Amino acid sequence: MSTSTTAASDALGARQSDSRVSPHIGDITSWRRDIHENPELEYDVQRTAEKVASLLRSFGADEVVEGIGRTGVVGVIKGQSTSSNLCIGLRADMDALPIIENTNLEYASKVRGKMHACGHDGHTAMLLGAAKVLCETRRFNGTAVVIFQPAEEQGAGGREMVNDGMMDKFDIQQVYGMHNMPNLALGKFGIRPGPMMAAADTIDVTLTGKGGHAAMPHLCVDTMLVAAKVISALQHIAARVTNPVDSVVVSITAVEGDNDSYNVIPNTVKLKGTVRTLNPAVQDEAESQVIKLITKTAEAYGASAEINYERNYPATINAVNETKFAAAVASQVVGADNVDDEYPPLLGAEDFSYMLIERPGAFIFIGNGPSAALHHPQYNFNDDAIAYGCSYWISIIETGMPAS
Ligand SMILES: [Zn+2]
Ligand SMILES: [Zn+2]
Repeated sequence: MSTSTTAASDALGARQSDSRVSPHIGDITSWRRDIHENPELEYDVQRTAEKVASLLRSFGADEVVEGIGRTGVVGVIKGQSTSSNLCIGLRADMDALPIIENTNLEYASKVRGKMHACGHDGHTAMLLGAAKVLCETRRFNGTAVVIFQPAEEQGAGGREMVNDGMMDKFDIQQVYGMHNMPNLALGKFGIRPGPMMAAADTIDVTLTGKGGHAAMPHLCVDTMLVAAKVISALQHIAARVTNPVDSVVVSITAVEGDNDSYNVIPNTVKLKGTVRTLNPAVQDEAESQVIKLITKTAEAYGASAEINYERNYPATINAVNETKFAAAVASQVVGADNVDDEYPPLLGAEDFSYMLIERPGAFIFIGNGPSAALHHPQYNFNDDAIAYGCSYWISIIETGMPAS
């Protein structure tokens, strides 16, 4: 019997055993598809937030607070007892992407140019499903806080909710996040202690030389050539400065001269790019190397450089104990063979990182099965993952704050 057959049967067994989620799968799937049809961007997630808040109220959540982090929603669900004084936060994201959907699904986006291409529709639906079961059963001693954030893709909605005082206001002690992962098999989870996703920094550079006739380069400082030297010099950081066992990516993604002709050397050239790192020390070193290499390279060729280096989402760093706990909970749901607790980190970024800076917790990947990549116009969240995701959330609460 192949490993994958074992995995599938183990996972199926676990899924069938979760009798409390199964009756709601139809509802949860229809919420997911409704959100998919009506994608909203960044902080403009009013319809989705309204749907989340009204469903939480209909489940009987003890408290539903809207407008945290501008359009975020928080639901509070008290267990059968709260004598433990424990409080665990579970977080989902609600925003879509500015992508033209190309899936031909019957519930494809009704808004051209907006699409749930990262599966946040599924994340929101799974957390709603878990909230429904938790409200019904309340088999825990403590408080579950369900967090629905806006602006994950762009705009740092997670940071905005933290800055609104969410962690203290609801007395959240630990916080957990989850993201679907295309091509990780359905019914599998992946997690690791330490860095799970990267810090994403942006670089904006303006190189100034001396423009002029393209046939008389000796009278100019050729900014386009300086840009080429800068782009190639920056690869020195990954190739020769950073320890090969550490990760760093420096990508220049846009080059723009200040004219659009065949025979003019531009006076200025603008570059844009991103720097990805998993470790704060490597991030510090990469930042100082980027600035040094650009400044000195420009200078060496007689040009000057203006650099704006901005740190955006920090690395998503899983706390050691909470990661062990999350992996154990995932193992309860799908069996230990289906949980990779040394899943390789990714150099994408995730603004759940801001919540993990405030409180210990862990971010886990849930298998989406074979599918187009995240942010691809043909991507779709796999509704067959709902049972696993909901069961994981419920188990985090019931195992983390057991009823006596
Ligand atoms: Zn995304
Ligand atoms: Zn995402």
